[in-house]
Amino acid sequence: TTFEALGVHPSICEACHNMGFKAPTPIQAQAIPEAIAGRDVIGLAQTGSGKTAAFSIPILQALWDNPKPLFACVLAPTRELAYQISQQIEALGSTIGARCATIVGGMDMMSQAIALSKKPHVVVATPGRLQDHLENTKGFSLRGLQYLVMDEADRLLDMDFGPVIDKLLLAIPRDRRTMLFSATMTTKVAKLQRASLKNPVRVEV
Ligand code: AMP
Repeated sequence: TTFEALGVHPSICEACHNMGFKAPTPIQAQAIPEAIAGRDVIGLAQTGSGKTAAFSIPILQALWDNPKPLFACVLAPTRELAYQISQQIEALGSTIGARCATIVGGMDMMSQAIALSKKPHVVVATPGRLQDHLENTKGFSLRGLQYLVMDEADRLLDMDFGPVIDKLLLAIPRDRRTMLFSATMTTKVAKLQRASLKNPVRVEV
């Protein structure tokens, strides 16, 4: 199949082609149409499957329809993964002018606060640092958020981010779309899924 056939906007298809993506990967072919149709998605997929674009393309598509600041948030377990996700969102969103901020631990709070004040469309974050900004950065909130992604949910929970994710969920509108990706389906992931996703479609590769 093609990105066009999945219902992806021509500008975003162009960005895919610019990145050398000739055709959707299996997880993309399954997840993208469901997410574009407005479904919550739980994706069981490993790194290397193309899962990042599987959740990023539907977000960018929704953003194209309705360009709003602080529209989407992606939670990732590590700084390295957060930076990789941001890079991919910026590349896929380059043709539609999508702006992304990366908010991770170990970096200067003040420069991150400035980045957040510029109202990026997407925030890619490690959970602890994001919660720190919600508590301490004046004027920053996620009350208008429309999309939440939890990437590598099994690792997020193994790293004991469960309690901070529970807090974050209280700061995010209940009326939103949610996507959860995980390499494995553990008891903890199932519990997080029940707490955060509504009638999700499950895609697996
Ligand atoms: P991920 O599983 O998201 O970490 O992606 C693994 C790698 O596959 C990344 O370097 C992506 O740039 C690349 N990739 C993602 N989707 C495609 C695609 N449809 N065609 C070719 N490469 C892709």
